[in-house]
Amino acid sequence: MKYLGNLLNLLFPSKCPVCGSKSDDHLYNPFCTKCWRGIEKYSVPACNICGIPTVSSLTITCESCLKTKPPFSKVLYYGIYDGALKEAIHLLKFNGVKRLSKPLSLLLSELPIPEADGIIPVPLHHKRLHQREFNQTASMSRHLSKNLKIPLMLNVLRKTKETLPQTDVTGKERLKNVKNAFKVSSIVEGLNLLLVDDVITTGATVRECAKALIKAGAKSVTVVALARSMPKQNT
Ligand SMILES: [Zn+2]
Ligand SMILES: [Zn+2]
Repeated sequence: MKYLGNLLNLLFPSKCPVCGSKSDDHLYNPFCTKCWRGIEKYSVPACNICGIPTVSSLTITCESCLKTKPPFSKVLYYGIYDGALKEAIHLLKFNGVKRLSKPLSLLLSELPIPEADGIIPVPLHHKRLHQREFNQTASMSRHLSKNLKIPLMLNVLRKTKETLPQTDVTGKERLKNVKNAFKVSSIVEGLNLLLVDDVITTGATVRECAKALIKAGAKSVTVVALARSMPKQNT
């Protein structure tokens, strides 16, 4: 089905998955320019480490990060996991619309990314990689590496434990699910690294990845993600 979808995509002009109008730019096809440009950069007061929105009008460190210092030095993300951004990540991740990794990587490039020695994508377990055929995060990292002229370090971080999809487990279980799931298989000693992920939910995955990298001797890990999903508010 995936191949058929790809073929249809190629043969027929696509409709924007958000508004249904005809896509008008090949760069972010199938999205229309209006919907793509409508992806908003998120900027509200947030924790200066984990990026979670804070109630204060100032950028400060949240209670949780003050209590336990995270293994990463900062989490940068472009927007909220919603609307066109959510749709685009979904198409890239589950429908194999690989060309979207380029425009999405351009969004990442707009973030205030610090100088770094290498870019490391959050890995997939080899079985999952086999099912999906490609790692969307690695694909975005490849473009980001070109955009920023920072070396891409593939296969340095490996996922050695098969885990349930984080979306299938609840809040507290997420940390347990990914615990010790990652191994560092190459030398990262003394390096300042960028860890790339698509969506951050509880941050459990990037936390475990960063922990493994720091344990292996990395000097610092900055998390760079496309989106952050916001905790649901019951009104
Ligand atoms: Zn549209
Ligand atoms: Zn925080």
